[in-house]
Order: sequence, then structure tokens, then C-alpha cells
Amino acid sequence: MDKRKRRVRHGMVKERVRILVVGGGYVGMYTALRLQRKLSAELRRGEAEITVVTPDPYMTYQPFLPEAAAGSISPRHVVVPLRRVLGRCRVIVGEAESIDHARRTAAVTTLATGEARTGARPLRYDELVLAPGSVSRALPVPGLAEHGIGFKTVEEAIGLRNHVIEQMDIASSTRDPEIRDAALTFVFVGGGYAGVEALGELEDMARYAARYYHNVRPEDMKWVLVEATGRILPEVGVELGRYTLTELRRRNIDVRLETRLDSCADRVAVLSDGARFPTRTVVWTAGVKPHPVLAATDLPLTARGRLRCTPQLRVEGVPHAWAAGDAAAVPDVTADPPGTLCAPHAQHALRQARVLGDNLVHSLRGEPLETYAHKYAGSVASLGFHQGVAQVYGRRLKGYPAWFMHRAYHLSRVPTFNRKARVLAEWTLSGLFKREIVSLGSLEHPRAEFELAAGGKHSQDPPENPKGSS
Ligand SMILES: Cc1cc2nc3c(=O)[nH]c(=O)nc-3n(C[C@H](O)[C@H](O)[C@H](O)COP(=O)(O)OP(=O)(O)OC[C@H]3O[C@@H](n4cnc5c(N)ncnc54)[C@H](O)[C@@H]3O)c2cc1C
Repeated sequence: MDKRKRRVRHGMVKERVRILVVGGGYVGMYTALRLQRKLSAELRRGEAEITVVTPDPYMTYQPFLPEAAAGSISPRHVVVPLRRVLGRCRVIVGEAESIDHARRTAAVTTLATGEARTGARPLRYDELVLAPGSVSRALPVPGLAEHGIGFKTVEEAIGLRNHVIEQMDIASSTRDPEIRDAALTFVFVGGGYAGVEALGELEDMARYAARYYHNVRPEDMKWVLVEATGRILPEVGVELGRYTLTELRRRNIDVRLETRLDSCADRVAVLSDGARFPTRTVVWTAGVKPHPVLAATDLPLTARGRLRCTPQLRVEGVPHAWAAGDAAAVPDVTADPPGTLCAPHAQHALRQARVLGDNLVHSLRGEPLETYAHKYAGSVASLGFHQGVAQVYGRRLKGYPAWFMHRAYHLSRVPTFNRKARVLAEWTLSGLFKREIVSLGSLEHPRAEFELAAGGKHSQDPPENPKGSS
């Protein structure tokens, strides 16, 4: 009899089963939560072990990143500490470098292996949940790797906020029109919700902040959105996409459709329509691609590099391997025509994680598996304070009602009651008091002051020359 069947006789896990979850994002965290709840008795008896390997000890609620960039939510409240919510799991802060599923072994690097220079260490498992998500889909555009800014992590969102305010400070403190123009020009590439929301929120924040500068007016700033296709925000449908376009243009945002970024070398954004913008800010939100670690496994991938999965969230044709979220090509069984895959959205990731957790437990217990079926409900997007668009179950909302719905929806979705309460408190307070407009970019260099005092390298470095470095 198969070893695993012995393990699950009479609906109980009989031997110790080691479950490895790679990734601590939506799928990783929610799957581990589900597993620790469903297998609580087995975990107590030592018959199951859940290990989560992830580079950061927190899960990032990515839909809140634009609001974090705008300063409406503190960075700490956009993330969920994994050790707190996954009390019965072993959380390893590290990265799976490769996976040899045939041998049920992942090669994992951690801070400690990095320091000791021992290389990746093998981690054995019986069941694998692979959920490393996606990474920005960067193209070989000259200058992009050196100057582009991504928008997928909380560090990037807060870094971008600090950067935008710093540019306003630079513009405010120079008489050189070249430096000033470059500092006040912000180019965003990619008109999906990440790009549109990030631009909408940051432009709104900068417009507000300008009232505290004696020599920077909102009309001095140039905000440019570059989109390769003929529409923006496809997630909310054609009509609301068109409305968003009109709304952004009404705010003086230069939206260029069917246009690509050809180069941003030497800090000049050159577009395919011939426009050139000297700028210190190029934000790249032109889509995502599956995480490269998937290529370092012996699991089947689609032509686009996602894991081939069944609607039960198993990796196709491979026993004891499961996947969901951005990394997984899961057939959308509700779609017409059939054969469509679930889009890389949080909406799917969250629901798939629950089904995945349940199915893994079903399989351990020898029970039939569930099929993942969720009809896409639509999307909500914020375009700045009190502005938004929403299309949910065929209903379309614009302006304040959509913005309110965006907040209500995400408040209901952000994990843990603790986070919900903190985010709600922040929103309430920000309605009563003025918005924060300070840049804490120096937090990124906490030792600079002391190094200067101690005569270290910073004291010899020339002060940053915006022109020279731009
Ligand atoms: C700015 C922004 C706004 C968004 N807004 C919305 C929205 O409004 N609505 C919506 O539906 N979707 C939205 N999304 C998309 C949504 O966030 C993703 O679809 C969702 O996060 C996918 O979940 P996931 O678990 O697959 O990946 P993630 O949540 O990205 O998690 C992947 C995890 O794996 C970890 N990892 C990566 N490599 C390794 C490795 N080698 N070893 C171990 N761990 C690894 C990562 O650090 C991360 O913790 C947004 C995304 C962004 C960037």
C-alpha cells in the first residue's frame, strides 16, 4: 500500500507529514492559515509539520501600496507579521533557490547561510505548496535597470513617496530650470491598476503637498502615464476605463495611449511617439511575469513560465505538488470560452489559497478534491483622495461612491482584525487632521549621520549634486 495512504487511513494522518509552503504572500499565508486550522489536531500530536519559506517575515497587502505611497496608511499596517498569524507553523525567512521535487527537496538560502557562506541548504518535504507570486515584467529598455522604480513591495511604495517629496524639495531649492523641470516630471509606464492607482494617489498627494511650498505649484509638475495599448485600467471594463482616462486628463495628467517607453538612459524618458522628458522618476508598472524560481524546478511550466495546474490546484501530472496565485496557470472553469486561465489577481489568489489548503488536507485524508470555481467579480480602484472607479458584479460606480467602495472592500479583505482596526483608525484620523507631507528618505540611510560624525566614507563623499546625478 502507498505510504501516503497508510498515513491517512480512517481520515487521520498516521505518520508525520512535512508540508513546505514556498512564499509568504497571499497564497502562502492564506494556505498556511487554512492548513494550521484544519490540521490543528495533527500539528498538536506532531503528525504534521508546516514550514513556510519566504524572504520577508510579513505578507504584503499589495492593493494598499498606492495608499501607503500617498501616506494614507502607514507601511506597518500594509503588512501582516507571519510569525504572529502562523503561530503553529515554522517560518523560515529565506528563499527557495531551486526545487528538486522528484527528491522532495528544496534548496533554501537564509540570512545565516549567506553570512556563513555555506550556500543553500536542503529542506526535505512530503507535500509542496509553491506560491512565489510574480515579479515585475521589465523589458530591455536602455536605462531602465539603472533608473526605473518598481511598485510591488512596501519598500518600493514608501521609497517612491519619499522620492517624489524629495523631488519637490529639489525643485524648490534651485533656480536652474533644467534641474527643476526634471525633478518635477514623473513618468509612469503601464496603465493597469498598479500604475493608475500609484499615479493617481501620488499626484493627488503631491498636489496637496504643493500648498506648503512657496515656489512649487501643482501646474509646475508634469505627470505622464505611458500605456502601450489603446486603453487603461482594463480591470474595470471599457466604459470605466474611458472615464478614468477623461478623469486623469482633467487633472492635467498627460496620458499617452499606444505609446511605449523606448529609453530612459541618461535620465531622459524617450517615448515611441517621439516625446522626450528629462526626468528623475520613471516608475515601471507594465505588468508582471511568473517568478524566475519556477524555472529552477522540475515541475511543468506553460510557455509563459507559470506552473501548469489543474482546477483542483495540483501541479499537473505531479503528485504531492500544489500551486495557486500569480505563479500558477489555473484553468478558469467559469470562463467562456473554456481554456481561459485565472488572471493574476488577489481575488483569485485569496480564494484559491482556501481551496488549496482544503484540498491538501482532503488528499492527506483520502477524500475527494474540490474544484476551484470563482467568477471574476470585477475590480475597484482608487484614483486619489475621494476619487475612484468600481465595477462589481456588473454595477458601475465613479467618483466618491467608488472610492468609498474601494476602501470598504479592501478594509473587509485586509487580513486580521488588528490590521482592519489600525487602518480604519488611520483613515478616520486622516479625515480629521492634515495629511502628512514629510519625506523620510533618510531612513533608508540610518548610518549616514554617524558615519559623517565618525569621519567615515560619507564625510568624504561629495554632497549629492542633483544635476550631476540626474
Ligand atoms: C500595487 C499593486 C496593487 C494591486 N492591487 C490589486 C487589486 O486591487 N486587486 C487585485 O485583485 N489584485 C491586486 N494586485 C495583485 C495581487 O496583489 C496579486 O495578484 C497577489 O498578491 C498574488 O498573490 P501571490 O500569493 O501569488 O503572490 P504574492 O502575494 O506576491 O506573494 C509571493 C510571495 O512569495 C515570496 N517569494 C518570492 N520568491 C520566493 C522564493 N524564491 N522563495 C520563497 N518565497 C519567495 C515573495 O516574497 C512573496 O512574499 C495588486 C498588485 C500590486 C503590485
